[in-house]
Amino acid sequence: MNDEEFEAAGQQLIKYVIDYHKNIRERRVMPDVRPGFMRKLLPDHAPHTPEKWDQLFKDIERVIMPGVAHWLHPHFYAYFPTANSYPSILADILSDTVTCVGFSWASCPSCTELEVIVMDWLVKAMDLPEVFLSTSPGHGGGVIQGSASEATLVAVLSARTKFLNGIKEKNPGIKDGVALTKLVAYMSRQSHSSVERAYMIALVNYRILDTDEKQALRGDILKAAIDEDRAKGLTPFIVCATLGTTSSCAFDNCKEIGLVCEQENIWMHIDAAYAGSAFICPEYRPLLNGVEHADSFNFNPHKWLQVTFDCSAMWVKNSNDLIQSFRVEPLYLKYENENEGIMPDFRHWHIPMERRFRSLKLWFVLRLFGVKGLQDIIRKDIRVAHKFEEYIRNDPRFEIFGEVILSLVCFRLKGSNEINEKLVKRINEDGRIYMVPSRVDDIFCLLSTMPTYFLLLSIYLSIYLSIYLSIYLSIYLFVSVSARSYLSLPFSVCSDCVVKRSI
Ligand SMILES: *Cc1c(COP(=O)(O)O)cnc(C)c1O
Repeated sequence: MNDEEFEAAGQQLIKYVIDYHKNIRERRVMPDVRPGFMRKLLPDHAPHTPEKWDQLFKDIERVIMPGVAHWLHPHFYAYFPTANSYPSILADILSDTVTCVGFSWASCPSCTELEVIVMDWLVKAMDLPEVFLSTSPGHGGGVIQGSASEATLVAVLSARTKFLNGIKEKNPGIKDGVALTKLVAYMSRQSHSSVERAYMIALVNYRILDTDEKQALRGDILKAAIDEDRAKGLTPFIVCATLGTTSSCAFDNCKEIGLVCEQENIWMHIDAAYAGSAFICPEYRPLLNGVEHADSFNFNPHKWLQVTFDCSAMWVKNSNDLIQSFRVEPLYLKYENENEGIMPDFRHWHIPMERRFRSLKLWFVLRLFGVKGLQDIIRKDIRVAHKFEEYIRNDPRFEIFGEVILSLVCFRLKGSNEINEKLVKRINEDGRIYMVPSRVDDIFCLLSTMPTYFLLLSIYLSIYLSIYLSIYLSIYLFVSVSARSYLSLPFSVCSDCVVKRSI
């Protein structure tokens, strides 16, 4: 492909991107395909000689789109949202263009320095503790990970190294494998599965703690577990707390947990993957209280802050804890001036060596929306969620589950789990909207995003149809408003947004 061909193809693809967003509502929200569908559409060998762009371009609609779940579709209510915006897409084009792999400062100084700067910007925009600033005296700082799962794993592995070293100092000659059996980590029943996974990968003992009636982990429960484990001769070393759980957007009591962690000298990691974006609005910042006790904190701008996947923002109080866990220094990665310590070498802060220029996405989004623009979107989404909550409360067949705090509305039809399972199935089979179930304690739930009149109408329709099947209905429906359908307000092109915004 030469320059002219690239220009023509690029224009054609940008036009396609715009049309995709403009007309997304005309597509079926979830694909109607069976596993293996694509084998029938593509040859089983790569072409030996080059094909023409036009042939490939045609295959986007023929081969790819039939199997795409349209996460940005206004009627995709499942999971937490996934963010997207034109500024972020543009940033990714630029990132792909320079194709740097900024594993060290020298490997692409701009890649490292922009990341340091935008992560500091975010600390200030979200009123995070100053210890997370790159300029803090205690080696604090932020790094962009690919996902919340990676951030949790990095925190767990770093805490593990730190505490293993402590055990080894106290017990000279003890083998790593033996010391490892002494460590114990904590999570709650509502923690994301990625936390349990991180503990499994780290090969540490872990305990899954109970929560209170609001699905929140509390300090006294943690303290009791720690006391028990210390009495058994174990070394508690980390707790992963959650702000905005996946099942019901519950908030652990980080203030209480943080105080226990400080007294007991164990690492506190906070996973705020979804809810974190809301802290850019000062009125939601109190939900983050306790973060001042955290050794590491993480949220996903790619969920609710207009930044396209992948961008998971992580801060640590002391980056030396990470560096000590991940530092290996082969000769070919050494460069002059590297030990001046002015700028980090981010390869020591995460698991892969190479890294994309992801800070461009944050920089474009922060500049082209402004903090105010991002706040407006979060506030609008939460307002819509409360409007939907009102509809539900006004309907005697439904009840709200838990509290509507951010853009997630958990609601249920009064009655049994079974009929609610039928309702979810029916809604999804219908194909016009998509929701996923969840379970809080023993209650079957449904997770969804972006409530609208349309959602309510569709649910009503499904209820009327379901009544023929059974009289009792009781599903928890989880509805969260997502920023996605605003696709880059004020750059919005999605006609449904207008409908949504006017609700
Ligand atoms: C979405 C989510 C995760 C997983 O995020 P990834 O970036 O996909 O790893 C973890 N924790 C919570 C609370 C989440 O909402």
